[in-house]
Amino acid sequence: MEFDTIAAISTPMGEGAIAIVRLSGDEAIAIADRVFKSPSGKRLKDVPSHTIHYGHIVDPNSGQTVEEAMVSVMRAPKTFTREDVVEINCHGGLVSVNRVLQLVLTNGARLAEPGEFTKRAFLNGRIDLSQAEAVIDLIRAKTDRAMNVALQQMEGRLSKRIRELRQAILETLAHVEVNIDYPEYDDIEEMTPHLLMEKAQYVREQIEKLLQTAQQGKILREGLATVIIGRPNVGKSSLLNALVHENKAIVTDIPGTTRDVIEEYVNVRGVPLRLIDTAGIRETEDIVERIGVERSWQMLKEADLILLVLNYHEPLTAEDEKLFDMVKGMDFIVIVNKTDLPQHIDMDRVKQLAGGRPIITTSLLHEKGIEDLETAISNMFFSGAVEAGDLTYVSNSRHIALLQQAKKAVEDAISGIESGMPVDLVQIDLTRAWELLGEIIGDTVHESLIDQLFSQFCLGK
Ligand code: GDP
Ligand code: ZN
Repeated sequence: MEFDTIAAISTPMGEGAIAIVRLSGDEAIAIADRVFKSPSGKRLKDVPSHTIHYGHIVDPNSGQTVEEAMVSVMRAPKTFTREDVVEINCHGGLVSVNRVLQLVLTNGARLAEPGEFTKRAFLNGRIDLSQAEAVIDLIRAKTDRAMNVALQQMEGRLSKRIRELRQAILETLAHVEVNIDYPEYDDIEEMTPHLLMEKAQYVREQIEKLLQTAQQGKILREGLATVIIGRPNVGKSSLLNALVHENKAIVTDIPGTTRDVIEEYVNVRGVPLRLIDTAGIRETEDIVERIGVERSWQMLKEADLILLVLNYHEPLTAEDEKLFDMVKGMDFIVIVNKTDLPQHIDMDRVKQLAGGRPIITTSLLHEKGIEDLETAISNMFFSGAVEAGDLTYVSNSRHIALLQQAKKAVEDAISGIESGMPVDLVQIDLTRAWELLGEIIGDTVHESLIDQLFSQFCLGK
């Protein structure tokens, strides 16, 4: 494939004073060579691959020095895009890095579209689609754990699972094919409906396993949608402040997301909480009053976690009981606050209402009980089947949709076998499952889908 040479500012992960202008394409080295001056007079186009060089970025027209820089030269194909890549490392801050970018643009490069570097890596066969999508997740990851999931995906763990599944289906299909085409071959085991059923059920189980990780994956990526509720004055604002101050607040820069509720992210032991409508809690005492019953009801329904705050110092009220009614069937944690004051709440009744959900007592005024709450949150999330670390999480909504469709196709195959459908008709459903799984790793995707995916990237990745 042939592409023009693209350039963009690409800042490395994490905070850092160094910014990089990255070029990729056939002309990358020639363009960099035009604007680079080494003290020893060596030329970038003569240097070996994967070497780094000190020098100055100089405007060839005016002869003016723009920036001092370290320049890495990496020749195709052992690069991220599989094209020639040059990285100009600048340390002079945003202004000078912008000047360097302008200079390479006026010397033959084109400004990269968002995600175009990764798109090229995909189109040049360097990475598969699910790995490319992992780059998006990586950019958006909010905690170390979320980043690990994205990294695993980028390393191709999901792809590997999908490939294994596709291989299993393919072998089954081939087996059926051989049986149909060469019925006289006695040494090949016959593909009986029973055997076919076994294979189909195995594939369904594996798909289900992957889908089970989807909820956790989504949460790691997007944050656990968390809503704090409680009567006025019980300590909602205090709780919010405690969570935000105790935990590193996560800065978000997801482009193109306009939300009418204000959100704050905090990292609670690796679980990213997306605290919803923090403005409502901060500015008015009553969310329900501020945004209306309908909206707050909606917000509660979409929440992954509800923190229901009660006052230890007051008897339960009808309003408290109503809140328990509203969150019935959801994941919630009860926080009984103000334990530094004399008890007036009926804890037995609270236990009854909580119905087995965690009850945490706090004195937020004295910063007591916050650790217990954090333990409860992380236990809730990382409990049961979900083990931290080792799992391949499915977190991308496109992957989830495809897995669901593939599961449906396999289920069609299974009910076909059950109802005694001829084996070659069952083949059609299995082939469909195989194709759908292929779309996850990009083996059977269409051009427009690719464009849409890559336009989600940040510039320079
Ligand atoms: P909200 O109306 O639910 O948001 O409650 P706030 O967080 O604004 O707290 C209401 C009042 O209770 C404030 O004066 C807080 O200082 C106080 N408060 C919060 N937590 C505690 C606590 O644990 N003990 C005591 N004694 N007062 C608290
Ligand atoms: Zn308040």
